[in-house]
Amino acid sequence: MAKQVILKQGRERSVIRKHPWIFTGAIQKVTGSPERGETVDLLTAGGQFLGRGAWSPQSQMSVRMWSFADELIDAEFFSKKILEALSLRKPPVISSATTGVRLIHSESDGLPGVTVDRYGDWLVCQFSTAGAAYWKKTIATTLQTIIPCKGIFERSDLSVLKKEGLGESVGMLWGEEPPEVVEIFEDGRKYGVNIRGGHKTGFYLDQRDNRSLVGTCSKDREVLDCFSYTGGFGVAALTGGARKVTMLDSSGPALAQAELNIGLNGIPAENYSLLEADVFQALRKFRVENQRFDLIILDPPKFVESRNQIDKGARAYKDINMIAMQLLNPGGLLFTFSCSGHMEDLLFQKIVADAALDAEREMKILRWLSQAPDHPLITGFPEGKYLKGLMAIAT
Ligand code: SAH
Repeated sequence: MAKQVILKQGRERSVIRKHPWIFTGAIQKVTGSPERGETVDLLTAGGQFLGRGAWSPQSQMSVRMWSFADELIDAEFFSKKILEALSLRKPPVISSATTGVRLIHSESDGLPGVTVDRYGDWLVCQFSTAGAAYWKKTIATTLQTIIPCKGIFERSDLSVLKKEGLGESVGMLWGEEPPEVVEIFEDGRKYGVNIRGGHKTGFYLDQRDNRSLVGTCSKDREVLDCFSYTGGFGVAALTGGARKVTMLDSSGPALAQAELNIGLNGIPAENYSLLEADVFQALRKFRVENQRFDLIILDPPKFVESRNQIDKGARAYKDINMIAMQLLNPGGLLFTFSCSGHMEDLLFQKIVADAALDAEREMKILRWLSQAPDHPLITGFPEGKYLKGLMAIAT
């Protein structure tokens, strides 16, 4: 008999709107003792079938929905979802020359907890929920059958795994070991990606289009790439003709890879410098030294990890934005981002506005920026939008 999760009276509303998360507090009863990750039927208090999802006994999110229809959750289901996800990532959405692509973006592709990135001939997977981990072998086998690749590497080493009662899991799932650095190509630029040790699955694919935009705005400019990691934006600025780019990050290994990435793109050494430092301190030092830039990128790590960190995060965003604005020459451009899902778009804009007031600079917003289209948003899941940014000009 099917294992069932029965909701409390009236708690089906979000499910009917196809929101994939069911919180513990919405559940009235669980029947059949499902194992961690096992598929359960979701029913209203009155016994009406709502769909099927994965049971996660340890998490506050007890069920994440696989389907809102009466369909079996099996290898064929995963194969269908993967093919759907692949069909989105075709030209004109993603150019066929781009070889670093997010193929599966979790809830936004109907597969909560499943992330799959392609880096050249390798796929890198993260299984971050009980349900995703339960189906890991099936998903890996399906990927291997559908997508031509040399190997599949797992990078399930996220902190959220604990909340699911899962341990870390890193290593080969299938095929050949990847080389230490896998080369990818995006919009005319080359990057080396460290699949085993890089952040997330190795690279920030979500910023691809914003990197291209920075590239088109960089000609003859003096650029400061803050939180540069392996030089994502800095390389784009250099290939776009920047006069000079300073890449600033607190991680030595990230900067070492940035230097390799600059080399891959054939850029002469006099056009860039690498600065291993804390951004908060380095910006202040530039201010004291009267150093100015024509284009500044601020792409910090998540300053807001949970709702109760919003105020603290807001102060950090305001601080770096304020000083960056003071470092801009007239006509200078600021590309400022927040990848914190808890930070709403309008609050971010307000923080940037407050920063401009304190900086005593007049800034005009030219564009709103967001994540690249291989990180899509399903309309019923606003939480899928996390990356936001502004392109602003100092007048
Ligand atoms: N812009 C990058 C991604 C940035 S990830 C890209 O497009 O690829 C965030 C980076 O910020 C990491 O490399 C991390 O090492 C760095 N970082 C975090 N806190 C920092 C700080 N206080 N000062 C300098 N760098 C920091």
